[in-house]
Amino acid sequence: MPENILKKVQKEVGAKIDIFTDSNTAHSRYEVNKKNYRTVLIKNIPFIFTCDEKDKLVILKNHSIAIRDDLITQVEPLEKIKAQKFNLIYDAGKRGGTVVTPGLINTHAHIHMYLLRSAMTLDEEKSVDETISNMAAWQKFETEESLFYASVGDLTEQQKNGITTTLTHGPSFESGEIAAKITRHNLLNAVSAVSNSRPSNSPEMVEKLLQKKNQFYSTPAISLHYLYKTPFATLRKVKKIIDAYQTLLTVHLAESQNVAESTLRTHGMSEVEVLKKFKLLNSHTIASHAIYIKPKEIIELAENQVGIVHLPTSNTLHKSGVFPFWQFNDANGYKNISLGTDSVVSKNQLDLLTEAYQARITHLYSRTIKYGTLFKMMTANGARVLNLPDRGKILPGMKADIVFWKLRDRGFVPYDENNPATLIGNLITHGGRMVRDLMINGKIIVKDRRHQFVNETKLLDVLQKKHMEMRGRKEKRVDFHT
Ligand SMILES: [Zn+2]
Repeated sequence: MPENILKKVQKEVGAKIDIFTDSNTAHSRYEVNKKNYRTVLIKNIPFIFTCDEKDKLVILKNHSIAIRDDLITQVEPLEKIKAQKFNLIYDAGKRGGTVVTPGLINTHAHIHMYLLRSAMTLDEEKSVDETISNMAAWQKFETEESLFYASVGDLTEQQKNGITTTLTHGPSFESGEIAAKITRHNLLNAVSAVSNSRPSNSPEMVEKLLQKKNQFYSTPAISLHYLYKTPFATLRKVKKIIDAYQTLLTVHLAESQNVAESTLRTHGMSEVEVLKKFKLLNSHTIASHAIYIKPKEIIELAENQVGIVHLPTSNTLHKSGVFPFWQFNDANGYKNISLGTDSVVSKNQLDLLTEAYQARITHLYSRTIKYGTLFKMMTANGARVLNLPDRGKILPGMKADIVFWKLRDRGFVPYDENNPATLIGNLITHGGRMVRDLMINGKIIVKDRRHQFVNETKLLDVLQKKHMEMRGRKEKRVDFHT
């Protein structure tokens, strides 16, 4: 990993805020006893929402959480927490209190595309199809360096919306790696084994990353953007790599009618049949969109525990079609359905709460997806899909990825105090909003709404500059041609 690039990005947009700043006052929720904290107590939490060991949604009232290093050690009423002097104490009962949930899990993103925000309005006089096909052209005008800043921009926005773990696909491993390091995000960093924008990408290149996976902050994985663009010889190699390194494969599956037909034309079979032919129908495969598939294939995907990512906003904006949610559910596939944001080209706001809401209203005409189900899709199901059994729940032994949402907030109030489950409905229907605080792997990442490792003022200025530079390069090119 080029250390000089990391240093450069860090210098330009990085920040390291002293944890003592604005702590230890009567007003603050934070009591810091040791700067390099390893033990944390989150006390007096009015409501914790989580799934339990059996995946049942539970609401814990007036509990506290003890953490050592990156692990949750206890979730109990305060009097049952083992007495010790904690390095850091967070009082979640203060000033109206906070609702605590597990960090949300985003199973489909393209973080390097963040500079293309507002892309759907770049060519608004054209049809949606033309606009989308122009995206690739826009991307050509991004520099390698700009992808680093884009990825930091994308991950920090996700974090401020409560997301702590993300699976991203893209041509560049480096940009994800640097951004994960700077933002401390849990990143599954899937690199395209075949790429239009980077013809040098190959299964061998991804294998080299997997051989060195312990050296990286992010976790390498393999991505195949479209199966119709992937030759069988490449699929054979990919299968071998997956078996050798037990890594994850992520694909866009039957995203549009066009893609489904192209696969039939190129390979003489459907995308599910291609996966089956190469023995890739299993829990190491993550299939996004999954719209144009036959009923028999839905059963096969469900039976073989293939991870599914539902992206209702992206599907709607791109006029792709409707994901057969209830068919998957009826085939017992529900546990492997998660939610993703996609890139800012497909959903301007990088959060999962509005995505859950979109899922609710998309399928309402058939049956209603309950709020508890949507909550699971954002947490426990997401962890299962990404093969991360120690994330997505607030239980002893799990990684300490925790979101703090302010309770005295328009998104929550009013709610039924006798039925706090109403808070989950409020959280989802009120939609995306910024977290008050956020913890990843036992460390505070967002404190009092401020990112602790990224200077957002500087970041936004850099992103704006890079965006305009990209536009400038495109303008010149257009002038040159006309
Ligand atoms: Zn995508």
